[in-house]
Amino acid sequence: MAIIPDTLSLIGNTPLVRLKGPSEAAGGEIFGKCEYANPGASVKDRAALAIIEDAEERGALLPGGTIVEGTAGNTGIGLALVANAKGYRTVIVMPETQSREKMDTLRALGAELVLVPAAPYSSPCHFVHTSRRLAEETPGAVWANQFDNIANRRAHITGTAEEIWAQMDGRIDGFTCAAGTGGTLAGVGMGLKAHDEGIRIALTDPHGAALYEYYACGELKAEGSSVAEGIGQGRITANLEGAPVDTQFRVSDAEGYHWVRRLLDEEGLCLGLSSGINVAGAILLARQIGPGARVATILCDTGFRYLSTLHNPEWRAIKGLA
Ligand code: PMP
Repeated sequence: MAIIPDTLSLIGNTPLVRLKGPSEAAGGEIFGKCEYANPGASVKDRAALAIIEDAEERGALLPGGTIVEGTAGNTGIGLALVANAKGYRTVIVMPETQSREKMDTLRALGAELVLVPAAPYSSPCHFVHTSRRLAEETPGAVWANQFDNIANRRAHITGTAEEIWAQMDGRIDGFTCAAGTGGTLAGVGMGLKAHDEGIRIALTDPHGAALYEYYACGELKAEGSSVAEGIGQGRITANLEGAPVDTQFRVSDAEGYHWVRRLLDEEGLCLGLSSGINVAGAILLARQIGPGARVATILCDTGFRYLSTLHNPEWRAIKGLA
């Protein structure tokens, strides 16, 4: 293996792994893109790098400038890492309901952390609106705006999708993942369809999100709730506009956790809940396509980020996750 010239070049080019248990359950081949192998241990490093480079190219971010963002955590970690490597400051606005590990990580990385109460998107106190206001008030600051900044999905069109296509040697029948900003789903979907229109792209939605109903019958409607961090969208973000979604699934936290548990116990892989939900969705997609189907999905982040929550038995008991 060649020497990597600098730390930012460690972002992307993640491995693709065949998942044994899920492949058997699907009667096909399920592959996980190991996004936890990025330096910030999540898929969001890609979007963070793309958003910062885009702001530099537009002349919006000048040396010593500040990046402000509202995030469930992983984007903040990615932004802070990239900002440190490039000499910028970061201010991260985050709902106080996110995992303790993410907050500690952000502080350790030197980000200025602003915690806000969990509030609906319609409220001016929602973390996204708070971060936009803070960016406007801070001299020399840019707002990363991951939800509606399509530099986010471009990172997946040119990066993640191309890597999956090459790693699978073009032999891929389907791709699915859940959506937070929708950058991964739309970007990988668009990138793969550019190679082969026939690749089936599926949304895997957690409960409490509105996209399943949107793709099924054109109406944004949510039902139930989920404790999964980083996914579950209630609107069509700019990143989701034009996403080539062919089919959709709804996966419960219990089904997602079943696969988190099995991958940990049987395959030695410690993941977060969004990865488990993605794997459950990939199995449904492979079964829908038919025997032997080859389906890829995203292993979004490391489970070590959730030792106080998902991987803590007391927390699971409180949340009703068996
Ligand atoms: N899983 C986790 C743990 C995340 O933090 C995110 C990002 N919010 C996602 C999945 C979804 O990625 P995207 O924003 O590209 O839809």
